[in-house]
Amino acid sequence: MRRIGIALVLAVAGMASSGGAQAAPKWAIVAHGGAGVIERGQLSPEQEAAYRRSMALAAEAGAVLLRNGGSALDAVEAAIKVLEDDPLFNAGRGAVFTAEGRNELDAAIMDGRTLAAGAVAGVTRTRHPIALARAVMERSPHVMLQGEGADAFSRAMGLEQADPAFFFTQRRWRSLEKALGAQRLPIPEPPPGAGAPRPSDELVHDEGKHGTVGVVALDVRGDVAAGTSTGGTTAKRWGRVGDSPVVGAGTYASNRSCAVSGTGTGEYFIRLTVAREICALVEHKGLSLQAAADQVVQRELTALGGDGGVIAVAPDGQIAWSFNTSGMYRAAAAEGRPLSVGIYKDEP
Ligand code: ASP
Repeated sequence: MRRIGIALVLAVAGMASSGGAQAAPKWAIVAHGGAGVIERGQLSPEQEAAYRRSMALAAEAGAVLLRNGGSALDAVEAAIKVLEDDPLFNAGRGAVFTAEGRNELDAAIMDGRTLAAGAVAGVTRTRHPIALARAVMERSPHVMLQGEGADAFSRAMGLEQADPAFFFTQRRWRSLEKALGAQRLPIPEPPPGAGAPRPSDELVHDEGKHGTVGVVALDVRGDVAAGTSTGGTTAKRWGRVGDSPVVGAGTYASNRSCAVSGTGTGEYFIRLTVAREICALVEHKGLSLQAAADQVVQRELTALGGDGGVIAVAPDGQIAWSFNTSGMYRAAAAEGRPLSVGIYKDEP
């Protein structure tokens, strides 16, 4: 039974309530494009407009499916693919570089109805890592594949392949040079075919260490799903993998509680199992979604010294987000409410 959410009105973090009790939305979607040092005045008007537009496009790509009775999983995948193709974000095209000058991509997806999950780490040639994570979930007996094996599985499944140069952006390369310079590490040659700067390169904002993308959704059947996709952290070494593809850390979904996607310093998200912890607080302690997200992000993550943020949705229509950085690119849409986009802390 779908509960009429009094909690919803209180807990809908980003969606200014117009006052009065509202019925819980039957479908909802929230997307993030990374948290980090994103302050007013730091982004040019063109950059800000480009990010807002991209976030809105991604959320709408999922919302259109949900509105027409599509599944939460399909909505998550569709919205993430839009962000993976957008060079503004640290996922797919536009991903950050490893210290060796490569793009090693991580992604995960989870179905809250069945608790099925799929994840990939360190893939280099799949255009849409989120589609590969979904293929792992649906077409392999495994939950997580990494490196060359994951690339081979991707080819075997017939997923769209991309040349490593496809993922290249000048702006992320400059971030790499800066990071390696600060660590006195050698600067590698750019990948062959890296090409001339594109107009969008100058719009990319280096939000510090983050910039991952993620989406959570609720469909009209009451099923939730979560997905996350990232290039990880700039100048990562030694096959480092963050929280995004780790089920329970950066990505989690269960119809018994909620769906969560995170962005931030992965090492802290893994140690706190941030996504699962939020869902556990909802499931076992009966916290509202917003209270659970705030408890984990504002208290536990902050106390441990990690930074970042999360987005979340619950089967009863609650929506929440929480971040302890100055900004997080985000967008939300739900049945009966207009699409909203935010970047800074003081935005609804
Ligand atoms: N959480 C990601 C990681 O640690 C980074 C990010 O959110 O941008 O790989």
